[in-house]
Amino acid sequence: MESRKKIYEGKAKILYSGPTSETAIQYFKDDITAGNGEQHAIIEGKGTLNNHISEFFMVGLSGAGVPNHFKKRINNREQLTVKCKVFPIEVIVRNVASGSICRRLGIEEKATFSQPIVEYYLKNDDLNDPLVNENHIVEFGWASSATLNKINSLALRANSFLLGVTNAADLRLVDFKTEYGVNVGASDSEVMMVDEISPDTCRFWDIHTDEKLDKDVFREGLGSVLAAYQEVASRLAVVS
Ligand code: UDP
Repeated sequence: MESRKKIYEGKAKILYSGPTSETAIQYFKDDITAGNGEQHAIIEGKGTLNNHISEFFMVGLSGAGVPNHFKKRINNREQLTVKCKVFPIEVIVRNVASGSICRRLGIEEKATFSQPIVEYYLKNDDLNDPLVNENHIVEFGWASSATLNKINSLALRANSFLLGVTNAADLRLVDFKTEYGVNVGASDSEVMMVDEISPDTCRFWDIHTDEKLDKDVFREGLGSVLAAYQEVASRLAVVS
């Protein structure tokens, strides 16, 4: 029997040690949470869908010049990844206004931005993941200025790629969250994208009707979460 060690358990995934010291196994749970854990449910089948959808995006991103931690899918629930030291920053790219930017700045939902807006949030549940800027990140040592520039350009490159893919699938990419890290085993490792890209971490709307097909279905009680995620997978021709 393979012995694996749990490295970390988050709200929607578990990270285990991988077969080598430079790899990890990312396990997708069926748990769904919102509001920093205030809303919680189990959506049977969600983990499997997100595993496949994230594989689809990560493989495409690799080809589009956005290096990332994905190595291969192991089974319906798990993928083999590069074990990374993750910067404590969530990067959100927004093309259309929704969610916290509307609440914070009073912007009307659906406003389309003339260019993508990049925001950084500190990953800290106790502080409710506050919005931070480049000066905070560099001053407090969460990432160097050079690393942050690299992260910014990877996030924007990812946005271009994801906009193309989603648009072709009749989905509007409203916004998405990504995280970044470096390979623990390589001292001069390049910055790579980690975590997942799925309807848990992106806002996808039907391009014609603006119907929400992402975690907002759960946040706002709009209907079947699984049906929305399945619709995204089917439009992207992701088979699970
Ligand atoms: N997001 C995420 N994890 C977080 C916070 C946000 O995946 O901890 C995603 C969210 O699903 C959306 C985007 O990032 O696609 C922007 O989220 P926003 O800042 O609008 O916050 P929310 O409205 O979700 O509180």
